[in-house]
Amino acid sequence: MENSILVLNAGSSSLKFSVFNLLGADQLSQKVTGQVEGIGTAPHLKARNDHEQTLIDVHWQTSEVANHAQALQQIIDFLNSSLQHQRLVGVGHRVVHGGPDYSAPSLITPEVMAKLDTITPLAPLHNPHNLAAIRAMMQECPNLLQVACFDTAFHRQQDTVAKLFGLPYEYYERGVQRYGFHGLSYEYIASVLPPDIATGRVIVAHIGSGASLCAIHNGRSVASTMGFTALDGLLMGTRAGSLDAGVILYLLQQEGLSIKQLEDLLYKQSGLLGLSGISNDMRILLDSNEPRAQLAIDYFVYRVSREIGSLAAAMGGLDALVFTAGIGENSPKIRQLIAKQATWLGVDIDATANEKSVACISRANSRVSVWMLPTNEELMIAHHTRTLLGL
Ligand code: ADP
Repeated sequence: MENSILVLNAGSSSLKFSVFNLLGADQLSQKVTGQVEGIGTAPHLKARNDHEQTLIDVHWQTSEVANHAQALQQIIDFLNSSLQHQRLVGVGHRVVHGGPDYSAPSLITPEVMAKLDTITPLAPLHNPHNLAAIRAMMQECPNLLQVACFDTAFHRQQDTVAKLFGLPYEYYERGVQRYGFHGLSYEYIASVLPPDIATGRVIVAHIGSGASLCAIHNGRSVASTMGFTALDGLLMGTRAGSLDAGVILYLLQQEGLSIKQLEDLLYKQSGLLGLSGISNDMRILLDSNEPRAQLAIDYFVYRVSREIGSLAAAMGGLDALVFTAGIGENSPKIRQLIAKQATWLGVDIDATANEKSVACISRANSRVSVWMLPTNEELMIAHHTRTLLGL
C-alpha cells in the first residue's frame, strides 16, 4: 500500500480533486486528477491518471449530484474503486480567504471551522463552497486529518502600507484590508524559480479566467493587484477588476441596481465577456474579427501593463517577469503584447522561444528575464498538507 494525500478545490459548481502519492525525500507524485462539474445543474465526473488516460467519464441527472456532499460521495466511491493500492492519510483543501489571522496552512479542527465561519462574509462567493467540502469530508471520513491552505496566506507578510486602503484606520483593524489571492500559485512559482532569479525582484502574472499580478522580492510577497476581494486589479474573464468606487455609488443611487444585480454585474457580466459582448474566453476573442473582441484584448493588455509598472515601483525595480495560468501558459500572443508594453522596463523577449513556450522566453541580453512557468496549486496544497501532518 502507498500513502497518498487527497487535494480538494471546491468552486461554486465544481469540486476538483487530485491524489498525490508520498514518495521519499519530500517528493510527491500526482497520480490522479479530476473534477465533478455542474453540481446542481448537469453533474459530470471525469478523471485521468498520470499518463493522461481517462479513468472515468460519467454524467448524472441533476438531482443525483445536487450539492458538494453528494459530489464528494461520488469522488470517494470512484477513488475507493480505482485506487486499490493507495491509502489516504490526509486531505488538503484550498480555502480562498483566510482573513487577517491565517498566514500559514492550518490543521482543521472544530475551533478552526468556527473561526473560518466568521470569515465567510469576506469571501461570500468562495469560502462557503470550500467549507462545504471540508464539512462533507469530515462527515464522510471523520478520522482523516484535514488541512486548510489559504490563498491569502502568502500575502500576509506584506508591509502594512501594502495592505491599507485610504479609509479610516478602524476599518483596517476590522479586517477591511488588502489580502491578495492566488497565493498558492505564487508560492508554487516562487518555489520553482531558478535560484539566481528567486532572490531578485519578480513580477508573476497569474492570468487565467481569474487574473492577478504579484510582486515577489526574495521569495516574499510585496504587493498584489487583488485586494479585499478577488474583484480588484486586472480585468478578468467575467470580473471588472479595479473600479472607481464612485461607480458603485452611481449604480446604486442613480440606476437603482439591487445588491444582487450589482454582484452579478461585477463578478459575472463584466471583464472580457462584458467588454467584448462575445466571450470570457481569451481563445475565442483572439480568433474573432469583431472590433469589440479586439477592444477587450487591448484593455486586458493595457491593464496588465499598467499594473506591471505599479508593482515594479513597489519593489524599486524589476529583475524577472513570469507568466502563468491559462492565458499566461498558453497564449504566446498575449505574452508578446504584454512584453512589448514592458520594453521600457528592460523586457526583451525572444519571439521564437515565446512561440515554442519554453521556460525562459527572454533574449540573452534582456535586462529583465522573462519566463513561462506552469503553475501547480494542487502540488503546493499537497506539500503543505504533508508538512503540517508530519507525513
Ligand atoms: P481558472 O483556474 O481561473 O479557472 P485557468 O487558469 O484555467 O482559469 O485559465 C482559463 C482561461 O485560460 C480560459 O478561460 C481561456 O481564456 C484561457 N486560455 C486557455 N488556453 C488558452 C490559449 N491557448 N490561448 C489563450 N487563452 C487561453
